[in-house]
This record gives sequence, C-alpha cells and structure tokens, in this order.
Amino acid sequence: MIARRKCDPLLFLQMLVLALGMLFPWHAQAAMHDGFVHVSDQCQNIIQEIRYFSSYNFVGERINGYLAPQAILTEPAANALCKAAAAAEEKGYTLKIYDAYRPQSAVDHFVRWGMNAADTRMKAIFYPQVDKARVFDLGYVATRSGHSRGSTVDLTLVDRLSGKEADMGTPFDFFGAASHHGAKGLSPQQEANRAVLLGLMENAGFKRYEEEWWHYTLKNEPYTDTYFNFAVE
Ligand SMILES: [Zn+2]
Repeated sequence: MIARRKCDPLLFLQMLVLALGMLFPWHAQAAMHDGFVHVSDQCQNIIQEIRYFSSYNFVGERINGYLAPQAILTEPAANALCKAAAAAEEKGYTLKIYDAYRPQSAVDHFVRWGMNAADTRMKAIFYPQVDKARVFDLGYVATRSGHSRGSTVDLTLVDRLSGKEADMGTPFDFFGAASHHGAKGLSPQQEANRAVLLGLMENAGFKRYEEEWWHYTLKNEPYTDTYFNFAVE
C-alpha cells in the first residue's frame, strides 16, 4: 500500500502564519508582552511627558517604536513606582515620567543618530559641551539600554502647589557631569530636590544610576537579560 501525503489544511495555515511573521516581524512583536502594564492603569497620580514620542529630545524627532505617549513598565516596577507616587504626594510633589519601557527599535534609532556626525540640531539644549563624535565612547549612546528590559524609568518631581518642575540643575537627558549624582556646582535647592527624588525612589525599591539624576531601575527587576521590542502604544 502506498501512503499518500495529503495536504493538511491546518498545517498549511500554520506555515502561512509563520511565513507572514517572517515577512512582517513588526506585527509579530506589536503586542505588549505579558507582565507589562500601562503605568496609568496602575495609578492615576503620575504625570507623563513621554519625550521620545515628541520631537523635544536630544535627537530632535519622534523616536521609532513610540506610537503613543504612554509609560509602560513591568508590573512590579509599575507597582513600586505607584508607591513612590503616593509618598511623593505626601511630600507635596507629583512624579512626572519622561520615559519608561523603551523598545529596542528606539535604541537602534539613537545609534543611527549617533553615527551621523552632521546632525547636531539639538546640541544647544542637550549636549552643548559634548563633541558628537564621542557620544559612544562617553557612554551617552549605546547599542542596548536597560530601559528595554522594562523596569527602568526616567522621571522628575513637579511641585503640587505651583505645578512647576523641581529645579534639578540640568534638564532631563543632559549629556554631562552636571547630571551626575553629587555633581559639583549645584545650588543647595537643586541638591535638595535631587535628594527628595532619590529618597522616594530608593524607598520604593529602585536603585539610582550615578550618572543621571532622573534614571532609576527596580532592584529586583523581573527580566534581567531580555531586551524587548514591542511598540509603545
Ligand atoms: Zn534612563
């Protein structure tokens, strides 16, 4: 008896889905990964100004992978941040997020920008003293970012009475030593403001990054070695 190979419609469908996934990888990765949440679904008392969705950032245009101005984090990071937000309110502040989860496609966009020495359109605001040719050696741009692991957030404080951002001595994403914790030349008020943010974040379970006053990572981050690439939407 000769075994006849029949075309299995289910197998055909599976192969078709696989082939489409290879042709359009963006669609395959579009959905938010399990275990991630929109911060605004966990608590409503945090302001969001997602700079990479806008053109007001060191590149000067909207960054790839940002389809909406949304802060996304892993659930434990979002919950810890909500704790910090509640503690901030008691001290008279509201937290304001500049960036949270960042897709790998956005980091790739930064790398392409870094390699284009001619594009210095935002230099005066974000890197006035840095030679653009050195952004990779100095560590301001890298091929990977901890933000893509989903448990890192960039943020500042807003005064609840005045509605103004606290003076931290530099803008968010300023490339330079003035952004470091313990930087020289800060006013006592700027030092005090940074210390308030640091205290709130450390108490909520985050750790600082010495070179950027705005950047905090959850100490027990759930994904320590996975760099995600689903879109922010
Ligand atoms: Zn950061």
